[in-house]
Amino acid sequence: MDDMTSGDIQESGVSSAEGASQSISAGDGPPKMTTRNVNVFYGEKQAIDNVSIDVNMDNVTAFIGPSGCGKSTFLRCLNRMNDTIPIAKVTGDITLEGEDIYAPQMDVVQLRARVGMVFQKPNPFPKSIYDNIAYGPRIHGLASGKDELDHIVETSLQRAGLWNEVKDRLQDSGTALSGGQQQRLCIARAIAVDPEVILMDEPCSALDPIATAKIEELIHEIRGKYAIVIVTHNMQQAARVSQRTAFFHLGTLVEYGVTTDIFTNPTEERTRDYITGRYG
Ligand code: ADP
Ligand code: MG
Repeated sequence: MDDMTSGDIQESGVSSAEGASQSISAGDGPPKMTTRNVNVFYGEKQAIDNVSIDVNMDNVTAFIGPSGCGKSTFLRCLNRMNDTIPIAKVTGDITLEGEDIYAPQMDVVQLRARVGMVFQKPNPFPKSIYDNIAYGPRIHGLASGKDELDHIVETSLQRAGLWNEVKDRLQDSGTALSGGQQQRLCIARAIAVDPEVILMDEPCSALDPIATAKIEELIHEIRGKYAIVIVTHNMQQAARVSQRTAFFHLGTLVEYGVTTDIFTNPTEERTRDYITGRYG
């Protein structure tokens, strides 16, 4: 798949209307994940139409676009979360490190550890802070004993910028934390199983500006360790945290490129209309 270029995509007749400007490249560095000609249907209704995008480790990739354009649907394809929606059907090719994630032999539980997800509303387990983080490493057998598990819990909370706030109360319930702390706990929980990719679906939309700033800072700090894909309806946030931006509209990928280009000099009129606030 690495040999595919945007030229191939155009020649195959895909996205003819916007083919001229559409890029699938993740930028420098080999792609961590590739998606080709992805379609998603909910029953008869098509929610994603022929989307091809690569993401890599070097960049935070932002998905933007008006509500209902398919951002969450497409994001969920990347770790097969749409499998949990009975009427959803996904077609096309999606790879992680060159491996087809929809292959029958793919272990979906393992896949979702490698491609973790953080949701709009913080959803800590109704367990202690410690157990929220230890849960994944326990079920995946990542720690050989208590010391190692303690170490994973500490480093995950440190990476998520939460350790200092919770180190003296690890046995308190995760649900007793503030919203922003809960969201960092959920990021720490994703980090604890040593993922390769972290998907975030509007992770700050339920948070106040200070908690939002902390999450954005955290994204900067962990960037490069993981491939990060973030859905956001907040264009300033996309501009602040990402290096690559994909603009979706009505289930199609309109434009994908370097974030500063998308925001200062978009190729497509629909992108321009959106970023200048004409709709959305
Ligand atoms: P976004 O995240 O950009 O707001 P979504 O991916 O949530 O968009 O939705 C894209 C389209 O798919 C919308 O028309 C939405 O109504 C539809 N959709 C999303 N989830 C489901 C579902 N579980 N069942 C049926 N339709 C859905
Ligand atoms: Mg959404």
